[in-house]
Amino acid sequence: MPYGLGSSFRAGGTRFRLFPELPSLDEQGEPETVWVSPRAGSVLAGPMDARMYVIDPIGKQRPYGFYPARDGGVIHFKPPWKGPAENPAEPDPDGHFDHLDFGTRQFEQAHAYGTVRFALDVWENYFGRQIGWHFGEEYDRLEILFLRGLDNAYAGYGSLEIGSYEKGPGVPIDFGLSFDVIAHEVGHLIVYGEVGLPDTSGLDGEYFGFHESAADMVSLISLMHFETALLGLMETSRGNLYTHNRLNRFGEISDSGQLRLASNQRTLYDFTRGWRDEHNLSEPLTGAFFDIWVDVFHRNLVELGLIPWDLDELSDRLEGEPDYNRVIQPFFDKAYAAAPDGFARAMAEARDYMGSALAFTWRRISPERLDYDDVFRAFLDTDAMLTQGRYRDVIEVDMRRRGIGAVRVGPRIELPAEDSHAFSPRTEMPLSRPPPMLPWNALPAALGAGAWPLGDMKA
Ligand SMILES: [Zn+2]
Repeated sequence: MPYGLGSSFRAGGTRFRLFPELPSLDEQGEPETVWVSPRAGSVLAGPMDARMYVIDPIGKQRPYGFYPARDGGVIHFKPPWKGPAENPAEPDPDGHFDHLDFGTRQFEQAHAYGTVRFALDVWENYFGRQIGWHFGEEYDRLEILFLRGLDNAYAGYGSLEIGSYEKGPGVPIDFGLSFDVIAHEVGHLIVYGEVGLPDTSGLDGEYFGFHESAADMVSLISLMHFETALLGLMETSRGNLYTHNRLNRFGEISDSGQLRLASNQRTLYDFTRGWRDEHNLSEPLTGAFFDIWVDVFHRNLVELGLIPWDLDELSDRLEGEPDYNRVIQPFFDKAYAAAPDGFARAMAEARDYMGSALAFTWRRISPERLDYDDVFRAFLDTDAMLTQGRYRDVIEVDMRRRGIGAVRVGPRIELPAEDSHAFSPRTEMPLSRPPPMLPWNALPAALGAGAWPLGDMKA
């Protein structure tokens, strides 16, 4: 029985090869062949479909955004890219893209498209309908493009720009091969499309933290739709998800600000005096959702009779103790060996519960004055609707243990000067009176030296 979404479009979908994990890290993996929803033959060279296209620009030196002009005005550098570009990835005669050679630009282009499409397919399945773009009034399609050398990736108004980073001297790693990084950006786009764009005045820190947490959950839940990732997780952890495993590691390849763990120990009490970085601030909420996911999974295992009820209880009781693993792991090893398929099924169910519950939660909340307590209460309401409150106790315990519902985050501390102009390039709306649009190759000359976009560059 297939557990991944990657196989559910087998009849009629388009094939891609995607790396669930970045191929150059220690745990080298093979790409997994997946099917995405557009029917074979409908995805054109780029790749391009009705909702997105990849372009691999030549000579693009800066990310899109608002830039200060020499004359003191503002220049809006925005999609579409009209300059020269590398040759696009071409489909094979049957319309698939799994024939491209690893190591070529075209493989990476197809990988970037396939990742965005795969993650969007996963979440449109949870939402039960198409997810709209927040920039839909101006653009029909998302422009997915590469900006190698940008140590980041981020979703903007109409675009998703993908950078690269130096693993070591002269060893560039392209984020185009990172499912984790790109799916996180798709998460931001989904939240902007579904939760909406707030009025930028009077935003609380918890709104920013919520966004990062939601993007991480989108990435993580999407990752668990790869058969190899889900089954590999079960094999290595034997169902004991509190151990160090691939599910709870994030952003290993990202810049310094983004190393975060889903199974972290941070609580909102750590931020009552203030916060600096929204990625750190996101950890209590992500941690709470991760704990809920694990608890739902363990409860499913108990209800299926695959682990004894007191193992779940023992696990809760010993959590955080130094000999936790020594005591607990042997029980999981034995239970898993007896029913590996049952464990995988229980994990897929817990994953789909989290995906559906988060999708419904995001539809219930408003971006205005959004805080973690709103998310907590909306998640409880969603659980009541989806399961008649089956996991209410789990949600209450895991959220409250993080201080959610008990305390609020403090003010933002030490706002960096370059962050003070704008909210984020991601939400940039066209200005009411558009600034001059320049041809692509005229932009650098019109900018002040070393100009960087107004607004912060966090991903
Ligand atoms: Zn982010």
